[in-house]
Amino acid sequence: MIPIMRPKLPPAERLAPYLQQIDSSRIYSNFGPLTCALEGRLADHFSLPVDTVTTVANATFGLALALSAQGARPGTLCAMPAWTFVASAHAALIAGLTPYFIDVDPDAWTLDTGRIAESLAHAPGEIGAVMPVAPFGQAIDTAAWDRFRSQMGLPVVIDAAAGFDTLVPGEVPAVVSLHATKVIAVGEGGFIASRDPALIRAIRARANFGFDGTREAIAPAVNAKLSEYHAAVGHAALDEWAETRAEWMTAARAYRNAIPQSNRLRFQDGFGENWISSTCVLHFADLDSDRVAAVLARDGIETRQWWRKGAHTHPATAAYPRGALAATEALGRSTLAVPLYRDLSESHITHIAERVLAAGATVM
Ligand SMILES: *Cc1c(COP(=O)(O)O)cnc(C)c1O
Repeated sequence: MIPIMRPKLPPAERLAPYLQQIDSSRIYSNFGPLTCALEGRLADHFSLPVDTVTTVANATFGLALALSAQGARPGTLCAMPAWTFVASAHAALIAGLTPYFIDVDPDAWTLDTGRIAESLAHAPGEIGAVMPVAPFGQAIDTAAWDRFRSQMGLPVVIDAAAGFDTLVPGEVPAVVSLHATKVIAVGEGGFIASRDPALIRAIRARANFGFDGTREAIAPAVNAKLSEYHAAVGHAALDEWAETRAEWMTAARAYRNAIPQSNRLRFQDGFGENWISSTCVLHFADLDSDRVAAVLARDGIETRQWWRKGAHTHPATAAYPRGALAATEALGRSTLAVPLYRDLSESHITHIAERVLAAGATVM
């Protein structure tokens, strides 16, 4: 069986120097030295000034806290694409908002700032926030969301959980996951980037019992801090990021070489050319992805619909309001992820590609 993914985080010997720093500092959490240094390195990585990145225990809490820190009112609706991972919906619920699932642009797979006004106008209640999603890590137009947020005066948070390689941070807070399954990972973790340091500070307090420099809680909060151990993995992961990225790109390029783009079968725009994520999602114009999955399973190739048929199709989310979702439903029928990992061999990729192309012929 070729598995859908095989996460590979930094090896023990690359963690050792950072773990030894923890032994000396005897600081294990609470925005300790490794965590603060990691935030600084992440800010540098995105060419951001200081105090524009704060770490969190995971992206799901990061999204929820970024909503609360902007004053998103509990009881209102949080508009989000139905074409997303269910965590986006959970995050809105954690912040006390109700998910309102709306449709994506059929080509970009994400919310369109130019057309969202109509979906918001048809909402079955007051819109309290909007959560655009970078689909499987593909870049979205953060500048357009900055403009939308200031024009509408609405809290906005970008779910860029899989977007480490593509994120161009603006004022709107963007949340990146460092979960083991992402392109760069610490196990469990994440961070929020925004060019508004006051907002970052408000989010940071909400991840730490509401404390902002003193032990006085200034806001309702949770504990969603990154531990120093996770920060140690983050340093080692950043140390090897250039190598890691090159490995992911090599595997993605091998797919692109083995599967010619056509009107019937395509990759996300630019995937494996100028950006990378940990998921290789194929779009079949005229095939049912469930049938392709069944054919590949017979050949021992694991596939996955990472977002199933949309975030609105889970038992936990089915009752929440939604608009017309034609594009999301079509993506649920026509997309399928094939195995991708850093050390997936070219011969495996050639084999998978052959089987995908043959499955296309079989299930026509
Ligand atoms: C991975 C992912 C999340 C959840 O991230 P965690 O760090 O595991 O909480 C949320 N949204 C999207 C789109 C994701 O891909």
